Amino acid sequence: MAREYRREKGGNTWHFCTNCPNWPTTDYEKRRKRPRKQLCEKCKRLEEGGCNGEQAPGSKPDPRVWEALERLERSMDWTRWLVPYLEPGRIGKGCLAARGRPSNAPLLVFPQGVSTPIRQRHNEAANVANENFLIRLYAILERHGFTRPIDDNADNAEIVKLLKDLRNYYAHGSGVYDPRNSEHEELRTAVVTSFDDLENVSEDVIPLDVDRVLGEFLKRCRKYVKDVMQHR
Ligand SMILES: [Zn+2]
Repeated sequence: MAREYRREKGGNTWHFCTNCPNWPTTDYEKRRKRPRKQLCEKCKRLEEGGCNGEQAPGSKPDPRVWEALERLERSMDWTRWLVPYLEPGRIGKGCLAARGRPSNAPLLVFPQGVSTPIRQRHNEAANVANENFLIRLYAILERHGFTRPIDDNADNAEIVKLLKDLRNYYAHGSGVYDPRNSEHEELRTAVVTSFDDLENVSEDVIPLDVDRVLGEFLKRCRKYVKDVMQHR
């Protein structure tokens, strides 16, 4: 995201870190291009310390993280009724309900029945929803002060690190799995060995099963958050 540079109307100094005590919030002018001169020294120090303008490094964990995690979980529940993974056995069916669907959740109707290409397109959409879940989950931890740095001594720190790697993989890469790419393969192995019952999944994907992977990520991230809050 592009930074914004602000200076108070009539002032000289440009600020660019929202954590700067002098960050202007009223009566300021702004620009996108980094000014060559008159940059705030405090903002510069925050930047050198790794601050990206959202949360100062080492700042206190924010308890509003719990609400944010709950919202994410609710959205995931609904998303899975909208775009459940379609097993090969669904081909030919016209109307279907996701497993365990509550009675007020949507039903899926395929007017011409599920064909092989329809199933593929549908499952790609489901996967995008799953990738987005992981990106959001990490963003929530980051935004609320739990990742700078990731606390190695906390419960499930290794799961948060794996989440970060996946976030980078999906948010900064193509997200297309290439089994010949050793980084992709390592990431896949890390996921398969971190969670249960994944031995038989296809070798061509990073499994993002809602129950076995995404739900577990959420559960273990909550344990991490709880531990960090108790011990800091
Ligand atoms: Zn400043």
